[in-house]
Amino acid sequence: MSGRRDRLAILGGKPIRQRAWPGWPRADADTERLLLEVLRSERWTLSGMYSGEKLFERRFAEAFAAYHETPFCVPTSNGSSALTVALEALGVGYGDEVLVPGSTWVACASAVTRVGAVPILVDVEADTLCMSAALARQAISPRTAAILVVHVACAVADLDAFTALAGDTGVPLLEDCSQAHGAVWGGRRVGTFGSIGVFSMQNEKVLTCGEGGAAITGDPGLYDLMQQLRSDGRRYAKTTPPVGEIELEKAGLIQGYNHGLSEFHAAILLDRLEHLDEENRLREENGEHLRRLLVELGGVTPLLRHPRVDALTYYQFCVRLDLEAFGGADVEAVRQALGAELGISFTRVGEPLNNHPLYNPLRSPRTNFDGGMAERLDPRRFDLPVAARARRECLKLHHRTLLSGKKDMEEIAAAFAKVKRESASLARL
Ligand SMILES: *Cc1c(COP(=O)(O)O)cnc(C)c1O
Repeated sequence: MSGRRDRLAILGGKPIRQRAWPGWPRADADTERLLLEVLRSERWTLSGMYSGEKLFERRFAEAFAAYHETPFCVPTSNGSSALTVALEALGVGYGDEVLVPGSTWVACASAVTRVGAVPILVDVEADTLCMSAALARQAISPRTAAILVVHVACAVADLDAFTALAGDTGVPLLEDCSQAHGAVWGGRRVGTFGSIGVFSMQNEKVLTCGEGGAAITGDPGLYDLMQQLRSDGRRYAKTTPPVGEIELEKAGLIQGYNHGLSEFHAAILLDRLEHLDEENRLREENGEHLRRLLVELGGVTPLLRHPRVDALTYYQFCVRLDLEAFGGADVEAVRQALGAELGISFTRVGEPLNNHPLYNPLRSPRTNFDGGMAERLDPRRFDLPVAARARRECLKLHHRTLLSGKKDMEEIAAAFAKVKRESASLARL
């Protein structure tokens, strides 16, 4: 089978698949009903006047906390604001250090600089692309005020090692679960291992309302501070006010800002949360099938599923390519060839944060350069070889493709097989 029949789609051959992939984000009649309810309620946000109905924001907070079997949740306007509120509640401030993985979305580092602190970029593990706990331990200093661990793509960071590290050093652990809503490690949901768990509900995430976020905690003191931090110093009043009056009381124990989630967004999240487990299960079933097919094929290694993981969230199906098996092609050529076969774009792992076009702490009007801060904030002082290699070798596929069936997984595997077999022709790209 050579010649025409196997010619790569990107070079004019017949693609493996032409049918559409499942859509994302999802909504149904219930979502529409709740949105209309908000629209007609004359109460579009937390800081609006009490209408006699329970806030969607509060209903979602209770449902999301219950989902995690943890007492408290503070919804926020997005994941970045959840990170900011969490860091400030932990008392992280000017000049403090926060350990941040060297490969993650830029908001993890920029949220740290936003509160005046210094991200200490720690390299990741090759098999999970999550922060290395061993390197994190070496990076702890007397100035370390928090450890921000991030569960990326379809992996969970080694939470046993990170909880031990936090326990040994007394440095609070913060979990960023923006890519792992619902994942379970050792019988417990991620987000409940550290002092605070934060989530983004941005458009591409597995639980989304377009723009949204949340922070969960088991600590009543952190909960009180996070409420105030996200609503200009206000928190829910202890007693229900009369209809037409504000539902928040002025606490003012810490300087807050407005990071609140609107009622429209909260209503969507409340509705979509009901579908999260069922969607996660389908993605996991398909993801595990695809994992087996690719391991069989060879030259393509999915991220490690740690034996302590009881339920995995596939935000992105992420693989490392053995580029030698792909004829020495570069990852960008393979990415484009796969996209042409399947009619959907794969994405690269982002640039390491010591060389990321969107992480520029020295180019912010917020930055205070006093006291050696320019040197301390300079991302180029960190060495991140594993993160850099992930950029050169890894590809990710959005979870919508996993909301399908076995046959669809076989097509994805067939596309990898075809591109691998025909990789000599990639040199012509
Ligand atoms: C998406 C994401 C964020 C940022 O969330 P926003 O809602 O876009 O502010 C933070 N951390 C991680 C790991 C993410 O994937």
